[in-house]
Amino acid sequence: MSSDLVASLRRRYQYTLEQIALAARRVGRPPESVRLVVVTKSQPLEVVQAAIEAGIRCFGENYPEEGVTKIQSLPRQSGVEWHMIGHVQSRKARLVTDHFELLHSLDSLKLAQRLDRFAAERNRVLPVLLELNLGGEASKSGWDASDDSRRNAFLPDVQAILALPNLRVQGLMTMPPLETNPEDARRFFRRLRLLRDHLASIFPQADWRELSMGTSADYPVAVEEGATLVRVGTAIVGARQYKSEKEAS
Ligand SMILES: *Cc1c(COP(=O)(O)O)cnc(C)c1O
Repeated sequence: MSSDLVASLRRRYQYTLEQIALAARRVGRPPESVRLVVVTKSQPLEVVQAAIEAGIRCFGENYPEEGVTKIQSLPRQSGVEWHMIGHVQSRKARLVTDHFELLHSLDSLKLAQRLDRFAAERNRVLPVLLELNLGGEASKSGWDASDDSRRNAFLPDVQAILALPNLRVQGLMTMPPLETNPEDARRFFRRLRLLRDHLASIFPQADWRELSMGTSADYPVAVEEGATLVRVGTAIVGARQYKSEKEAS
């Protein structure tokens, strides 16, 4: 393994943690209230191994099969945690319940029911976040919450998901429209937080603590708006290697 790669990952990881801490302090939040998920989609196993060597312990993957291949190639007791952050097709649901600690991107009741069944078979409870589509883009997954008139349309689905015994909802996730200026993403992050507060007032029995929002382009803004999980890829591990991404899908 290249020690240059390890050193550069360690440096960029530390820099990102510092930026998170600065953003948190700007708004009076404790820096440790934010977790950094390092996104390794389309990166080869060697990058993950170097990242572990550099002290990184929490990884995010977009494609269940690609993630599971990496997970199974690492030693069992690697002390590493894997999050699924991409759209999960129904037929890949079992890979998620069998291999991942947290699903950020639950986007339909049908998928929730399938995951619940598989989790029950494995005798586990799968923590999940509900993905909301705040820009109303057809290309994005998640419940449409792009304007106030739709704000309550997904409540029956939420209610049904909260009743599933083997899933545990912990909060919300969003991937806002791509903006050139990170400040332009702020209104989407703020909206996710307000939607969370809205859901918490309707379903106070559930746990709504997590807000998964912010990527390389805008994570400091997301932290200022209340992110508890930021998903950072390219700023730490460099540009994606699109070839393996295609192979995996
Ligand atoms: C790829 C991806 C990220 C990371 O994006 P970067 O720009 O590489 O930081 C975060 N969240 C999701 C859902 C992604 O697909």
